[in-house]
Amino acid sequence: MIVLKTSNELRLMQRAGQISAQVLQLAGQAVKPGVTTLELDQLIEKFIRSQGAVPSFKGYGGFPGSACISINNEVIHGIPGHRVIQEGDIVSIDVGAVIDGFHGDNASTFAAGEITPAAQKLMDVTRESLNRGIQAAQAGNRIGDISWAVQSYVEENGFAVVRQFVGHGVGSNLHEDPEVPNFGKPHRGPRLMPGMTIAIEPMVNETGAGVRVLQDGWTTVTQSGSLSAHFEHTIAITDNGPVILTQP
Ligand code: MG
Repeated sequence: MIVLKTSNELRLMQRAGQISAQVLQLAGQAVKPGVTTLELDQLIEKFIRSQGAVPSFKGYGGFPGSACISINNEVIHGIPGHRVIQEGDIVSIDVGAVIDGFHGDNASTFAAGEITPAAQKLMDVTRESLNRGIQAAQAGNRIGDISWAVQSYVEENGFAVVRQFVGHGVGSNLHEDPEVPNFGKPHRGPRLMPGMTIAIEPMVNETGAGVRVLQDGWTTVTQSGSLSAHFEHTIAITDNGPVILTQP
């Protein structure tokens, strides 16, 4: 069931989104060679709690961290730990915050020091595919219009969208209906209505769409071993077009 939010609820979601975006920005600035993913996670948890919010991911399905931190060939759901970030790594951070009963959810991939042109292109294409998906999130369109906007742009650039994991509705629950796949056909799927709030989150692999989950039950890596990038915003569908709720 898709839950439509009232204008008051959208204001609450904007606050949750703001904290989520601020902490993502802060964490991104801290991505440097020599830093561990656990240090990033601690910084993230401290900031979120300092705002009177709670990390959405902490304990979700038993997840141990406050953020998912995924490096290079890791796509999503990397568990923060003692891994040290190296020069040239690309580091995807996915983080959400809940306050006053509503969640924000967002992600970005950050460069640690100098990265290769190929890694930079992957990040640029993934970020732009999110922008294209957001632009397609107009009231009256359908979920498939978002999916197609993301997929077609990614594939035109020679990369592959992950199919095993998808975006989602977000609100008083971190994951709500509808699913928002990063692949699909235009004019298909649920109709976008004002008051819908969704997380659009392309996960893009350099080579091949396949992914697998490691023995820890969380960390998801590319089948091919290639790099992967991930960008996400929580947005609201409104009569005046899509509004990004995860803005610092
Ligand atoms: Mg999400």
